[in-house]
Amino acid sequence: MKFTYDVVIIGAGVAGLNTALSLDDGVDALVLAKDYAWECNTFYAQGGVAVAVDDEDIPYHIKDTLNAGAGLCDEGAVDILCHEGPIVIKEFIEHGFKFDEDREGNLLYTKEAAHSRNRILHAGGDATGRHIHKFLMDLLKFPILYNTQVTDLLIKDGECYGVRVFHNNEIFNIYAKKIVIASGGVGSVYEYHTNARTISSL
Ligand SMILES: Cc1cc2nc3c(=O)[nH]c(=O)nc-3n(C[C@H](O)[C@H](O)[C@H](O)COP(=O)(O)OP(=O)(O)OC[C@H]3O[C@@H](n4cnc5c(N)ncnc54)[C@H](O)[C@@H]3O)c2cc1C
Repeated sequence: MKFTYDVVIIGAGVAGLNTALSLDDGVDALVLAKDYAWECNTFYAQGGVAVAVDDEDIPYHIKDTLNAGAGLCDEGAVDILCHEGPIVIKEFIEHGFKFDEDREGNLLYTKEAAHSRNRILHAGGDATGRHIHKFLMDLLKFPILYNTQVTDLLIKDGECYGVRVFHNNEIFNIYAKKIVIASGGVGSVYEYHTNARTISSL
């Protein structure tokens, strides 16, 4: 097994796998997953992906998102989400992802929660996350180390140069020039929740 890479990506959900997809083929990258690849929130996501239907809709998507966030949103993050979401969706479709369409081949948008118009793309009905996860796993060109829990970031002079991992009852370091943290949230620290069991701080 190798212990040094150009890039180590922590997490095999949509964030980690989409990061991997954006890397050049020549990059020596490794993806780490705490458990099985599908034990992530991406696999469990159902309803769909909110995205502005056209450029004119972007300000309304921003407004609806900020309203729904009731003052708790990071406005810069919302701006990026609403502006760059359509670009990522276009890339997914160009790579061959099939969102649900009507009989004429038009994308089917549905309405959810605080959205003021139909703006939710979905796949396989309510199996959107599962479809996206399989799609990104099929496109993955780098190895994944499963059952690997990152327990520490190795940091010197403010720079992260590796991770300490627990894998198959062994503890060791993996080094990389770039470390991408795509480990999801912390929802599974609660006693009752619908998150994947891997979604905790450690
Ligand atoms: C039941 C459910 C339904 C949802 N429905 C929707 C929906 O309809 N629409 C929507 O937009 N969003 C929905 N979400 C939210 C959505 O699933 C998440 O926002 C999204 O999938 C997060 O992706 P991610 O890649 O950041 O994290 P995840 O997909 O959760 O992936 C995290 C990855 O990090 C790994 N990891 C975590 N900690 C470590 C560690 N210490 N070491 C190594 N690896 C680690 C995990 O193993 C996993 O591979 C839903 C969530 C749930 C739970």
